[in-house]
Amino acid sequence: MPDADLMDKLVSLSKRRGYIFQSSEIYGGTGSVWDYGPLGVELKRNIKDRWWSSMVHRRDDIEGLDAAILMNPKVWEASGHVDGFSDPLVECANCHRRFKADLPEVEGGQCPTCGTREAFGEPRMFNLMFKTFMGPVEDSTATIYIRPETAQGIYVNFLNVQGAARQKVPFGIAQIGKAFRNEITPGNFIFRTREFEQAEMQFFVKPGDDDEWFDRWMEIRMQWHKDLGIRAEKLRFHEHGPDELAHYAKKAYDIEYEFPFGWREFEGIHNRTDFDLSRHQEHSGKRLEYIDASSNERYLPYVVETSMGVDRTLLVVLLDAYREEDIEGNTRVVLGLNPSLAPIKAAVFPLVKKDGMPEIARKISDALRAAAVPAFYDQSGAIGRRYRRQDEIGTPWCVTVDGESVESGTVTIRDRDSLQQVRVSTDQVVLWIQERLD
Ligand code: ATP
Repeated sequence: MPDADLMDKLVSLSKRRGYIFQSSEIYGGTGSVWDYGPLGVELKRNIKDRWWSSMVHRRDDIEGLDAAILMNPKVWEASGHVDGFSDPLVECANCHRRFKADLPEVEGGQCPTCGTREAFGEPRMFNLMFKTFMGPVEDSTATIYIRPETAQGIYVNFLNVQGAARQKVPFGIAQIGKAFRNEITPGNFIFRTREFEQAEMQFFVKPGDDDEWFDRWMEIRMQWHKDLGIRAEKLRFHEHGPDELAHYAKKAYDIEYEFPFGWREFEGIHNRTDFDLSRHQEHSGKRLEYIDASSNERYLPYVVETSMGVDRTLLVVLLDAYREEDIEGNTRVVLGLNPSLAPIKAAVFPLVKKDGMPEIARKISDALRAAAVPAFYDQSGAIGRRYRRQDEIGTPWCVTVDGESVESGTVTIRDRDSLQQVRVSTDQVVLWIQERLD
């Protein structure tokens, strides 16, 4: 399947089946903002839950945090975002549209919108932070920013968390939350949007131990994506060269996926040194040093950051899972999602709407829900169509109640990928599915 088709198909499936809708669609949408529907919200939660579990629940050296989106504006002066978080833009003198200065057409001197040649002014810097006002007065003293990354909420709380949780360096702080960037060229569905979610972890280490921890986190994070079921051949590292490195970074690697529009980053691993803590120390006038109780040493820790875009990861998961199979001349669309990520774990069908089958099927779907296994009951239409609808949204198992069920107390469970059916005792269905989810 040509790659461009894959994106179109995914966008259409996402809308039709309730994964992702355009924000404010009835008003014509809003620029590069998306809403997650009933299935999308489940998939996103499952991705975040896996991340949180691997970072916070399964480790004793990382603490969780949920910092506010709105922060004291001095935070963004200290972090360098007020001065540095910007892209050079040029304006066309004819149509007055603005473009990134490094777009190929623009570099070639032609306006991508109206086609006028050589009508660009000098590039000007355009800050990517959204601004608003806090309080009733709308003047410059009331200006605050809507955070463009979650990391700063972690740095300013470094000593709060360390002291309250009695952690010793090396340790980390993890946070999942929304971030906002007034991107100039958003696009590719949920790949680059103006409102998105990040799952970030800042790991504080003794200077000198940073390279070793950097390597360790690179490996852990790559393995995490492979464990989601993402094909290894579609994943790679990309090291930032000297001209790509952010102002705060000593070393940076992206984890890239081969999207239909090319290899692109969806997670970054950065050695941010003590840049952020030292800037906050300077700008706030508060000491942010860590005191090692055993040696009485005082120092500003170095930070190794892992920064994953939740929405981009969700796009990776969907793209990687989408496949079309030819089955006896018919196309079967399958989302081969890892069962732990699938929004619905099991669909339950009575083969026909009579002979006691719906009652048994209802009981099974109720039992699944009572065990907190998201289940879906469906009795309408031909059984083949019901299977296909579930394949398309990634449901790993379909439980069918048939004539034999009424007699023998067993049902069939169909596997989404192998299409194998096994007979399982009706009262074992919940356990059978739970075992496979573990
Ligand atoms: P890019 O170069 O693609 O703009 P970045 O290098 O600015 O990304 P970081 O600041 O390192 O990105 O942010 C970490 C992660 O946050 C990215 O890997 C990405 O998954 C996610 N992210 C950043 N900007 C956006 C956006 N506009 N829309 C969706 N996700 C984003």
